[in-house]
Amino acid sequence: MIAEEIRLLHKELEGTGAQLVAVSKFHPVEALREAYDAGQRIFGESRAQELLQKIPAMPEDVKWHFIGHLQTNKVRSLMGRTALIESVDSEHLLNMIDRESERAGVVTRVLMQLHVAREETKTGFAPEELLDYFSRRSFEQLRATHICGVMGMASNTDDRARVSDDFRRIRATFDRIREICPDLRGFDTVSMGMSGDWKLALEQGSTLVRIGTRIFGARQY
Ligand SMILES: *Cc1c(COP(=O)(O)O)cnc(C)c1O
Repeated sequence: MIAEEIRLLHKELEGTGAQLVAVSKFHPVEALREAYDAGQRIFGESRAQELLQKIPAMPEDVKWHFIGHLQTNKVRSLMGRTALIESVDSEHLLNMIDRESERAGVVTRVLMQLHVAREETKTGFAPEELLDYFSRRSFEQLRATHICGVMGMASNTDDRARVSDDFRRIRATFDRIREICPDLRGFDTVSMGMSGDWKLALEQGSTLVRIGTRIFGARQY
């Protein structure tokens, strides 16, 4: 089942230029292992504790993406452990990651999380806030953090037009940042699309889809 879904998704993503993050939060290591054996290498986790438990149980060439809300008191524990922290939702968190990265002697790759969904509960930067951050060129103060792009989620709705529009806004914000800062290097990632909406995200220019339920089944919280 898991292996089959991984192979199908890899096939469906072939030629799109987008990569697959297998969102494995709340699933046991055995399930991750099955996905790994089918060729999956990027895994997404949303809780620091769970991620740190899974790392030693999986092969070393796994690329771990952190995709959940990261509390500042957990930042230190993740230094040097992630290929990408996708969910930087405030300048405060970004600065903390930078301080701790420098302290640990590592460079941390991150995405800035955009809030475009019409739901109050979702965290992240409003598009204007993020454009302002790059207009101020505040990233030049970072010493050990590399901003690689943006991550976002669409509204949780069956209204496909609205979901597409949310993705279009995420991509447009990314494109605008590249216009504002044409000298930004390695700013090339647009992480959007989950189990229910990844095809719409691809249409709007996603380069990284984060898929959990379709691969691993429903999560038991
Ligand atoms: C859990 C989660 C996903 C995966 O969602 P599915 O609907 O299970 O595919 C993707 N992105 C983020 C940020 C998540 O927290």
